[in-house]
Amino acid sequence: MTIAENLEQVLANVDRAISARDASKTWFDHTVTIVGVTKNQDVTAMRHALAAGVVILGENRVQEASQKFGTIGTDFSPSWHLIGHLQTNKVRQALSMFDLIHSVDSEKLTVEIDRIAGQMQKVQDVLLQINIANEATKYGLARDHVKPLVDLITRMDHVRLCGLMTIAPLYDNPEACRPIFRELYHTFMEIRSLNLSNVSLQWLSMGMTNDYGIAVEEGANLIRIGTGLFGARNPK
Ligand SMILES: *Cc1c(COP(=O)(O)O)cnc(C)c1O
Repeated sequence: MTIAENLEQVLANVDRAISARDASKTWFDHTVTIVGVTKNQDVTAMRHALAAGVVILGENRVQEASQKFGTIGTDFSPSWHLIGHLQTNKVRQALSMFDLIHSVDSEKLTVEIDRIAGQMQKVQDVLLQINIANEATKYGLARDHVKPLVDLITRMDHVRLCGLMTIAPLYDNPEACRPIFRELYHTFMEIRSLNLSNVSLQWLSMGMTNDYGIAVEEGANLIRIGTGLFGARNPK
């Protein structure tokens, strides 16, 4: 299958999942945007994805993204999203490349983003990554740390909170992820209803190749697809 065919397949599955949403509930959005996850993919594969209609590229590592950033060419002007853990010493470089950072997972990192964005005279759009399943092996804020960090952001001048993100555990049966996605949707709607300053929740980033159908059924509007678009990743 080509990348274009894979994309068509993903879009068809997304449509099916949107139709399967509980019609008795109110959903905040019925459109879904795909982030093409390009970690370990070369620039040629990335260009194929862009030619097929992908408009957002998701990279895990600042270093890898910076090597590809200038080489995509001028035929395309994708939006770049950072989806992997960000170290504070890479914030300046990250802020010069990424339109949206999905993976903000600590107060320390948020404070540093605000400081550097201030120096660069920009406002950085971010999502808070929440570790709903509370897996020790994953980055992400514990539930209890979300509200205090949201509060802190309302007092920042150079960070805008645009949504929430989670990575579900890799279960054999993706159905097992449903309660996690449901909880994140609930948290999202709760924060959204508060109408806080610097907070404009519009992205609910949940769902990867294995579980995006369930995530979309539970209200995701930003899904991060790697292998489902590009095939198996080249090990590096
Ligand atoms: C790698 C990765 C993805 C994509 O994973 P696939 O299973 O290949 O779709 C999505 N989100 C994050 C944070 C990732 O690291």
